[in-house]
Formats: sequence, C-alpha cells, structure tokens
Amino acid sequence: MAIAPGRTITIRDQRECVKCHALSWQICYGIRYEKPDPTADHYLKHMFWACERCGESSEEAKEVPEPTERVMLIKRLLKVGEDYDVKTVSMQSNGKGVILTVEFPDYDPARVRRLAYKMEDGFINVTELMELHQAGFHNQEDREKLLLRPMRYRRRENVRRAVFGTNIGW
Ligand SMILES: [Zn+2]
Repeated sequence: MAIAPGRTITIRDQRECVKCHALSWQICYGIRYEKPDPTADHYLKHMFWACERCGESSEEAKEVPEPTERVMLIKRLLKVGEDYDVKTVSMQSNGKGVILTVEFPDYDPARVRRLAYKMEDGFINVTELMELHQAGFHNQEDREKLLLRPMRYRRRENVRRAVFGTNIGW
C-alpha cells in the first residue's frame, strides 16, 4: 500500500454536516492519497473536513484515476509560474511532448524585492524609487504583493489565516 504524503492547501466547501444536520461551510485540513494495491489503476483520495460551525470532523473517500506521467509532469511544470518570479509561463503540446516557455520579467526580482524592503524601512533614494516604479510596483499594495512572493510563502500564509481566522476553537 503506497501512501502519498499529504499536502497543505486550503480547500473550503459547503458540505452536509452530520452534527448540524445541515449544509455548512467546511474546511479541508488534510488530504491523503492511498493506492489500494499496487495493481490498481486508481487511487483512493481521503479528504478530512472540519465543520466551521460546530467543529465536527468527517472523512470523505473517493476513487480518483491514476494520473499519467504526462499529467503529473505538466502540473509540475505549470507550478513554475507560481513558485518563481516569472512574467508568463505557457505550454504548447503536440502529440508526443510539451514545450514549456518561460518569460522572465524585465527587472531583477531579487533586486526589486530588496528595494521594496528598503522602502518599508524608509531608506530609499529617488533613483531606487524610479526603479521600483519602472518594474511596475507603484503603490503599497504592489509592494506588499512583491514581498509576499514567491507564491509558496503566500500559500503557507493563507493556510495559517484560514486555520486561525475561523472560530472552530482549535
Ligand atoms: Zn457542523
């Protein structure tokens, strides 16, 4: 029996709660994939839910088709756009393969991020401010977005917010 490690992503959905006897907002706090046996062509996907109203947890299990190597690789390649400071990620597919095209931004993301930090501290000169503007970071909101990159940090932050922002009591 193979068990894929769980991942932390935020999933929220309306589900029937056995304790509330009604539809309620629930948050998924865990996902586990399980291969029933090595010859099976599907996985069992276990999702663990907690009711936001009463805190009752429940488990949902459903069969999902085994992803092909192609699907898994395409998913991984597309994540490049979420995990790195790139301008665009596009993918072309033909019968036998895929071509990934990554377009980098005109600015140096690491430098621009350093400038944004400097600005937070209030030690930025006009030339540096111009540089930030030219890179497209004009206001506080733009700069906050920049500082929250790469996305993997932002995602972790979202999970924390989702967990602690609710009144479940754990
Ligand atoms: Zn409930």
